Amino acid sequence: MTRHHPDSLSLMEYSAGNLSEPHALCIRLHLDECPHCRSRVDTLDSLGAVMMEQQPKVSVSEGMFDSILSMIDSEPAGAAKVATAPRMSALQKLLGDDINKLPWKRQLGDVSVLDITDRFPGQSEQVVLQKLAAGGKAPAHTHRGEETTIVLQGAFADQKGVFNQWDFVVLNDQDEHKPVAVGCEDCITLSVLSAPVKLTGTFTRMLNPFIR
Ligand SMILES: [Zn+2]
Repeated sequence: MTRHHPDSLSLMEYSAGNLSEPHALCIRLHLDECPHCRSRVDTLDSLGAVMMEQQPKVSVSEGMFDSILSMIDSEPAGAAKVATAPRMSALQKLLGDDINKLPWKRQLGDVSVLDITDRFPGQSEQVVLQKLAAGGKAPAHTHRGEETTIVLQGAFADQKGVFNQWDFVVLNDQDEHKPVAVGCEDCITLSVLSAPVKLTGTFTRMLNPFIR
């Protein structure tokens, strides 16, 4: 069961089809595993369809979206009925059969990366897989822009908590963190970055120009 979810605005943008392809993929992978968010998107989809039919007679404020979403949140999670694209086929199509056997590039210490931006032609965001070796830790860093991440395998922890498989996290330039891999598997994440990460440790800061 995932504990870290996309926010309401991201789900609305997903439902409206406004997200970039890699960003939408992160949400779709999460939805496959999260009945709570699936239920919210299901309702947003229905609402969107009604609005399309009734336009321009009905105008919907953001406050109305919020009240609808809070009504959904009070329902039991099992109510979700949306069938999303099978997660494994979406990932396999993108990455092949074994995510652990990709041509990973060792970055710093326990961190390996693989830039897969070129698999999303025609969009401007950088798309990166990151692997933190089991039991390993990443250097302290902030993020120059917004980074949307989903955990594909294993788990990591930072000062905000533990992020397990299919958990969703958005980080920005206010978030300095030092993630560590927890559990016995390598932790692999998929991230969509609007700008590169910025290392903040005293030594690793010197290496910044060499990181992405
Ligand atoms: Zn969720």
